Amino acid sequence: MRCATATPLDNFAIVPEMTPIRTFLFGVLAWLGAAVGYSKPLVVTTHTVLSDFVHEIAGDDVEVTCLLPVNIDPHSYDPRPADVRAVSRAALVVMNGLGLEPWAERLVAAAGYKGAIVVATDGLEGLLPLSDHEEHGHAGRSGENDALDPHAWQDLRNAKHYVQKIANALCQVVPSRADAFRSNAAAYEAKLDALDAEVRREIDSIPSGRRKLVTSHDSLQYLGNRYGLRIVPVAGSRPGQEPSARQLAELISTVRREHVPAVFFEATSNPKLAELVAKEAGVTVVRELYTDSLGPTGSPGATYLGMFRHNIATLVAALK
Ligand SMILES: [Zn+2]
Repeated sequence: MRCATATPLDNFAIVPEMTPIRTFLFGVLAWLGAAVGYSKPLVVTTHTVLSDFVHEIAGDDVEVTCLLPVNIDPHSYDPRPADVRAVSRAALVVMNGLGLEPWAERLVAAAGYKGAIVVATDGLEGLLPLSDHEEHGHAGRSGENDALDPHAWQDLRNAKHYVQKIANALCQVVPSRADAFRSNAAAYEAKLDALDAEVRREIDSIPSGRRKLVTSHDSLQYLGNRYGLRIVPVAGSRPGQEPSARQLAELISTVRREHVPAVFFEATSNPKLAELVAKEAGVTVVRELYTDSLGPTGSPGATYLGMFRHNIATLVAALK
């Protein structure tokens, strides 16, 4: 139970007399409240990947609520009244930033939330969306331009940045557990480093001429940039932006001309588009990538590490 602030005695006028049995019942209710976790600080996140990082760092010491259910497109999400209630109860709000959550500012204002907000990509180099330039490598500072590619978690080095920022914020929220949080974060960062080396070995096993792919939006640019995969986007960086007939025709001719081995369409994208490109360009279509969301509980993509391993195995199998 949360500690109540001191209340003037006059306000107790309507409280019934505290008989021993009532005192006992109030005690049981308080114990039940603590047992089901009401006393834990609530951390609200805007994305399944962020919730996984909070869980890795803080375990059961905090309650985590992710506003977005799995497989929901974060770019065009429309917050619900339950989200406003969750944010109003939060001890910490964790966001991705780089323009992933254009609706978050409105939500925080509607909830009257005045607490801490951590933007996990603050301080990272953001990449311009692929559709804004033909070649990779045009980087911009985050905050300079809200039209940057927001999918920064698709680079394992960036994931370490997220974990450090989130760990620092969690230590402020539950200072008594700071040592444990820092040690959990360090152990998790070691796992990210190990996976980074593993992914590099896996990608290096693909013949260099075949290290290219098409995705349904720019969601894998950070991955391509880090591990040397050329990403050919279908349309802009937001899944809601469907390609025009002209863009689709250009894509099909690019896939044919460059002998792109496979086209990857994500769980959050429109399956009709994938079928059309596959039919017209005569290439393999893979639909099992987790990009904008982790997968449901029990799926290979249910955690960030599982999502990354699954995506790499799927990419390598299709491109080799
Ligand atoms: Zn996206």
